[in-house]
Amino acid sequence: MNAWIDKPLDLGSDLKAETAAARHMAGVLKTSDPRRASAAAAYAQDLLDRTLAAHVTGPVACAKGCNLCCHTFVSATIPEIFRLAELVRADTDAIAAAARAAKAIGQDRRFTTRVSCPLLKDGLCGGYDARPLACRTMLSRSLAACTAYFPVDGAGALDYAPGARESRGRVEMILAAALMLAGLPGKHVELIQGLAVALTVDNAEARWLAGEEIFAGVESDNGDASSDLATWGPILARQVSL
Ligand code: SF4
Repeated sequence: MNAWIDKPLDLGSDLKAETAAARHMAGVLKTSDPRRASAAAAYAQDLLDRTLAAHVTGPVACAKGCNLCCHTFVSATIPEIFRLAELVRADTDAIAAAARAAKAIGQDRRFTTRVSCPLLKDGLCGGYDARPLACRTMLSRSLAACTAYFPVDGAGALDYAPGARESRGRVEMILAAALMLAGLPGKHVELIQGLAVALTVDNAEARWLAGEEIFAGVESDNGDASSDLATWGPILARQVSL
């Protein structure tokens, strides 16, 4: 086992740990395991949790039962959606209904016209152990900032805990590189619509891994093209290939 694999990322300029993690994740994605996409997502999520634990050391305002960030556009990669789908299969009907509502609204209006994540149960996340990277990174230092930002129209700015967004960016870069190396698409899609596809299409994970475009009708995150991922994912993939 590579010395870097079970450690948090150090978020420094040396990308040795990121390169090792991307190589490991690409290896997972190239096995014959029919659930290898979910396995790669689990690795990415564990890596993010370790990295957040190492770098987000100050107090955060987030507390059990606060779900202000669970009613707007949430994006996730397809492997993350497959991992989460297995945990919430019992809620397929509610998720399909919420997906129809989300599809009718569009990303740019999801602050003003809210659709609650159908995974919320009594205010808590029903898929907590497999929640996407985006959800894991919502670590705020200010409840007041969240209260101003989320229920209104995205006004103001979130007060992210230092290290949270940097940790997510690195792990998403690693996942993007691994997917690229495995010949799989790395785009982010809207979580609820993506879950509905993963839950209602027969053999969804196997078919996606085989190249079927089963998510073609799901709204993509329109921030993908302008994000650092579009630059850094390919750079890291090239580094892994050297
Ligand atoms: S998956 Fe969980 S944490 Fe993420 S938006 Fe849904 S309820 Fe909230």
